[in-house]
Amino acid sequence: MKLTIVGSGTILPDPDRGPCALLIEAAGLRVLVDGGSGTLRTLTKLGHDPRELDAQVLSHRHLDHAGELPSLLFLHKVARRRRPFPIFGGGGLTTLIERIEAAFGELTADYGAPVTELSLRGPDGVALAPGLRLSTAPAVHKHGALHLAFEADGHRVVFSGDTGPSSALTQLCRGADLLVTECAYATPGEDHLCAAEIAAMVAEARPARVVLTHLYPDVDESTALATIAATGVRVERGFDGWSWEG
Ligand SMILES: [Zn+2]
Ligand SMILES: [Zn+2]
Repeated sequence: MKLTIVGSGTILPDPDRGPCALLIEAAGLRVLVDGGSGTLRTLTKLGHDPRELDAQVLSHRHLDHAGELPSLLFLHKVARRRRPFPIFGGGGLTTLIERIEAAFGELTADYGAPVTELSLRGPDGVALAPGLRLSTAPAVHKHGALHLAFEADGHRVVFSGDTGPSSALTQLCRGADLLVTECAYATPGEDHLCAAEIAAMVAEARPARVVLTHLYPDVDESTALATIAATGVRVERGFDGWSWEG
């Protein structure tokens, strides 16, 4: 299983960091996770052809995570895709796709984009392919927000999505090989995490490794890293193109 951070930033313009996107490669599948504006270009720069993506999983429906979706669906139409492009996410995703279709003109009619909505009430999961499982849990955020865990080849990687402090996320992180977590805030808030909250979670769940993304400019990177490193768990800041393989 390989995880690549495609976009490590936020919606704020940054020449070096795009909005949130990850790529999971496992069990013969290439799965795009989220995808803010610019994801198609960054994927291409990293050597991946967006036309060859097999599926997409959305952590939630904020534009810094889902803004590129209409462009990706249009790309599949223009490229004459003939196999379905399955999309997974929390409740409300079906309506989003229907509205994109209505607004931009039946982008998926030729190939089909079957939607699977995962529960916002408790843990859920689905096999993306034989040997690649997606497990989810509701996140403390808006617009159908989920935590995502991908399991393949005996490994588990966890993506926080956007979230406030979350016991469900702590549960998913127990025994995980990698936690990719947002660290949007410098101090505690309701709908995003700060480094002290991540440190408390990491101290309890002990994932093998932690990577920070989605830092807003008022988060001091070195202070955040030191706060989490004090737990003894390896931590670093991600960048566009950062990757992990296990
Ligand atoms: Zn959000
Ligand atoms: Zn976000």
